[in-house]
Parts: sequence; C-alpha cells; structure tokens
Amino acid sequence: MTTTSPPIAIIGAGVLGLCAAFELSRRGHGVRVIDPGGANASSVAAGMIAPAMEAAIDQVTPEQAALFRAGRDLWPAFAQAAGVALNARPAEWRGPQAEVLAERMGALGFAARRDDDTLVTDEDLQIEPEQALQALRSTMGAAVVKGEVLRLEPTASGWRLNLDGMTLEASAVVLATGAGPAIPGVTPEIRRLVDLIQPIKGQIGRLRSRPVAHVVRGPGAYVAPMEAGAVVGATMQPGRRDLEPDPASSRRLLEAAERVLGQPLDAAEVEWRAGVRGASPDGMPLAGAVPDAQGMFLALAPRRNGWLLGPLVAEVVADAIEGRASSHAAALDPRRF
Ligand SMILES: Cc1cc2nc3c(=O)[nH]c(=O)nc-3n(C[C@H](O)[C@H](O)[C@H](O)COP(=O)(O)OP(=O)(O)OC[C@H]3O[C@@H](n4cnc5c(N)ncnc54)[C@H](O)[C@@H]3O)c2cc1C
Repeated sequence: MTTTSPPIAIIGAGVLGLCAAFELSRRGHGVRVIDPGGANASSVAAGMIAPAMEAAIDQVTPEQAALFRAGRDLWPAFAQAAGVALNARPAEWRGPQAEVLAERMGALGFAARRDDDTLVTDEDLQIEPEQALQALRSTMGAAVVKGEVLRLEPTASGWRLNLDGMTLEASAVVLATGAGPAIPGVTPEIRRLVDLIQPIKGQIGRLRSRPVAHVVRGPGAYVAPMEAGAVVGATMQPGRRDLEPDPASSRRLLEAAERVLGQPLDAAEVEWRAGVRGASPDGMPLAGAVPDAQGMFLALAPRRNGWLLGPLVAEVVADAIEGRASSHAAALDPRRF
C-alpha cells in the first residue's frame, strides 16, 4: 500500500509565500497556500526589483548588496516560469545626491551613468505587483485555500493547521505571514523571532496618469510607471501597522514627487493606500529552518525589498526543506538573531 504524505502548507499568500509555494511546487512537492485574501504589503508595493538603487540609497553592506544582486539575477528565469511580466527599464535618480549615490553604486559593483544632477542605472527591473501575484496564484490552482490559520499543533508526521471550521494536515509548514503576529501554537523560538520583526507602514499613491516612462527617484519620493498610470511612493513609518492613509503624508509625498519631476501632479487623481512591511533587525529576511521547530520554516521580514528578494527567499526555503546546502542560507538564517 502506498501512502501519500500531506502537502507542505505555506501560510500567507504575499510575495514570499507565493514564491516559496511556486518554487516548491516546481521542484515536485505538493503544496497548499492558506491566506484570508485581500490587500497585503505585496499588493500595495511599487514592484521595483531594484538592487542598485536600494543598495545605494539604503547604504547596505557589500554582503547585502551581493544578496540584492543575487535576488535580481534569479528574476528573469523565475518570471518566465511563473508567467510574471518583468520590465527592464532604466531607473533614474534626480537630485543633488546623484554623485554620492553614483560612488556608492560603483563601490558595490553596480553600473550607472551620471549627468549633472541625474544618475541612471540599467541594473534595476520592475514587475506589476497585482499581475505578479495573480500569475503566481494561478500556478497554484486549487492549492490556494481561503482562510486564516488560527492555531498550529505538532503531529506525529508534521503539523495540523486549525482554520475557522476546517483543519488541514501538513508535512511541513512555511510561515510567510508578513508583519502579522505569531500564530498561536508556534514554538517559543519562533514566537521570539516573530516578535523581533518590526512593522513599517508604507504609504503609496496610485496616479491615473503616467508622468514617467521609467522609475524616477529623488529626495523624499519616487514615481514608478505602472501598466495603467503610475505610483508615487513611499513613506517608511517604523512601528506603525495601521492601514489608514494619512493626509499629511500624502501631501508631503506629492510635493516631493512634484519637486523630483519638476511638474505639478493632480492631487485629486491620486488614490492613496498603505501596507505594512515586516523588517528583521538587520533588514534582511528570515528564511530557513528554526532550531526548536521540526518541520517549520520561515519566509519573513524582507523589509522594503520583498519583491526583489522573493525568488531568493524561495530558493533558500526550498533548499532548507529538502535538507540541501544553499549558497545564501547563512546570510538569511533566522538563527543569526
Ligand atoms: C508602499 C510599499 C511599497 C513597496 N515597494 C516595494 C518595491 O518596489 N520593491 C520591493 O521589492 N518591495 C517593496 N515593498 C516591500 C514589499 O512589499 C514587502 O517586503 C513584501 O510585500 C512582504 O511580503 P510578505 O509576503 O512577507 O508579506 P505580505 O505581502 O504582507 O503577505 C503576508 C500574507 O500573510 C497572510 N497572513 C498573515 N497571517 C496569516 C494567518 N494566520 N493565516 C493565513 N494567512 C495569514 C496575510 O493575509 C498576507 O496576505 C513595498 C512595500 C510597501 C508597503
């Protein structure tokens, strides 16, 4: 008699959960993704896959910049396999810091060209978050279950997930719950790690018009083109998890974007939204196994680069589940905290 082991359960259908589910499923594992649905940080994001700009603006270490580059390098094949539309357009910085940013990019090995107060790089890419989420979700078909996991219990062969009115058995669990709280039933070590994750509210505005053909960044704001219109982003408000757009932030972002573009934008046509990013103490994701939790894996806390690092986190998590050594595992290992 053959017995089929239960699927791997991925809790959370943001970019990290869906990328992990896609990676595991294309390696031949049975997966099930559980999420209540609705907006999340991944759907609100601008979709920039931006190793060069993010590394220069955020002043990351050379090791972190190498992870950003590795994340970007996985995208073309990953996007093609998952049906995600990937755009290669230049990314531009406008403003007095162009020289400093050019130096930082150069020191980190990213190519860029400068002209007075502008800096342009071809290192960065862009996806459309909603199209990408939809494409990833549709590769899962019926494996996406709508619901919130209310409690986890260990079993002889894995974990039992308790949802409202339903229980699901899983051979392993990937926690990809964003900036959400620890699910009751997780081990003390997982609770400790989840409690270390800082929520950072990000506000972003969607324009119906498209004032730029490629990403333009500058002091206090960026404007990124989208399939329909553009987005103006984004605030970083540590400690905030509310999703209410704040009028003062909207005004500041719009004014900064107008200064960067050198043209007025119509406040009346902007639809403001907010999402909450989860950030680990060093700003890099927590990906992989946890010492006291057999069969439970983390895919959490990518701060403001969840889209950039989605395929990389997925690779590290899938390798951890398969018990394989992964070249980036140490840098993202939750045990570093
Ligand atoms: C304004 C803004 C702009 C951004 N722009 C960019 C960008 O340009 N490029 C980039 O790389 N990153 C960007 N980011 C960051 C990026 O969006 C995040 O890092 C990323 O979305 C985090 O993904 P996640 O899967 O960890 O979390 P989320 O997208 O928040 O997904 C977590 C999911 O888990 C589910 N969940 C939680 N608890 C449970 C439970 N108990 N049971 C079932 N499901 C549960 C939630 O419902 C949610 O759907 C931006 C973020 C914001 C807010």
